[in-house]
Amino acid sequence: MKKKIYNYDFLIVGAGLIGSLAALALHQKKFKVLAVDKQRKISQDNRTLAVNANSKDFLNQIGIWSKLKSKPQPINKIIIKDYINKYPLIFENNKESMGNVVFNQEVLSEAIKACSEKKILINNFDLDYNNLPKNNIINIKNKIYSFKKIILSVGKKVKFNSIDETQDKFYKNYQLAHVGFFTHSKVHNNTAYEIFTKNGPLAVLPSPYKNNLKSTFIYSSKQKITNNNIKSLIKKNFINSHGKIIFDKNFYDYPIIVKINKDKSNYILLGDALKSIHPVAGQGWNLGIRDIQTLCKLTNQFSLESKYINQVYFARRFTESMAYLSFTSSLNFLYENFTPLTKNIVKFGYQTLSNSRKLKNIFIKQAMGRINLID
Ligand SMILES: Cc1cc2nc3c(=O)[nH]c(=O)nc-3n(C[C@H](O)[C@H](O)[C@H](O)COP(=O)(O)OP(=O)(O)OC[C@H]3O[C@@H](n4cnc5c(N)ncnc54)[C@H](O)[C@@H]3O)c2cc1C
Repeated sequence: MKKKIYNYDFLIVGAGLIGSLAALALHQKKFKVLAVDKQRKISQDNRTLAVNANSKDFLNQIGIWSKLKSKPQPINKIIIKDYINKYPLIFENNKESMGNVVFNQEVLSEAIKACSEKKILINNFDLDYNNLPKNNIINIKNKIYSFKKIILSVGKKVKFNSIDETQDKFYKNYQLAHVGFFTHSKVHNNTAYEIFTKNGPLAVLPSPYKNNLKSTFIYSSKQKITNNNIKSLIKKNFINSHGKIIFDKNFYDYPIIVKINKDKSNYILLGDALKSIHPVAGQGWNLGIRDIQTLCKLTNQFSLESKYINQVYFARRFTESMAYLSFTSSLNFLYENFTPLTKNIVKFGYQTLSNSRKLKNIFIKQAMGRINLID
């Protein structure tokens, strides 16, 4: 007897921070979606996410934002300092917070829970995405499925046979991001900091705890850095603003991979599978949310059978991803390769931004995800 074929609109390979949310967004649009993930259960992630205003709206729309139990910490002010310029650059937006800091783990748990409730997720299934059949008919745990579109959201560590990988030219020696938390005696005033040191950028953000006396840091460097180096760097820079600082016991390391993938096949790449950028601007996941939003919009314009969806999607997302990748990588390159020329470029950019309210507003809106470079 012939086996029954289950007809679906989308297969999403990889239900991490982007794939699981894509599944919920497409399901909300009444598509028949199945997401698969190779993990049996959610792996530990000790990072926080700076969720920009656009991504917060998205999480609200798919019903995840209201489920976050720890208190998302608004970012109302961003202070940028470096070792070249005397005065800091300050960004503020009085109309709405520029972003909110949440725990990665919490967003992922809620998204996975919602996917499981809607029965659109299969865990513990490692799909060989390099050898998928051309007709999109796939055996998953002994059931035969047929899909109209296949989405790959398998994260940044993957190797695709059929996809060109363009590694960042500026940035071949990748950094490690060191992440940790500290409590402090003064409140953080919902201010985020980015300090460009000679060894790499240090970000300090309000952490999602109720009392405003806890912050998190991300310090990325190509150099070998000890925990004690990080502690003294933070104490030196934050004793005045944050008061007495006590670090949590564990620090965590995350590799930074900077690359962009060019699809040569028929798949749609979402999140870090499309591009993985340096976390200095805290925008990698926010860009992944934009990937989902663009895809959802295109499903209003094209039928799923159309190849144009893939092409238009890629054209739109590649451009914005490339812009961010180039911006974040150039920024690091300039600060880490100190010469009279790089110093002057940084000084010029800094002063132009400080002196122009209009430029600053554009910068803020961009960081908030309120400007669409291409849409
Ligand atoms: C230190 C650090 C701080 C950051 N901070 C921010 C921030 O503040 N704001 C921001 O916007 N971004 C930030 N980012 C970026 C953000 O973390 C990533 O962009 C985001 O997590 C990518 O999600 P993803 O779903 O694409 O990939 P992942 O979360 O890696 O998910 C991939 C999923 O695919 C699954 N998978 C892989 N292969 C298979 C397979 N063969 N079959 C089935 N499943 C498979 C995996 O199990 C995993 O669940 C930061 C990054 C770093 C390193």
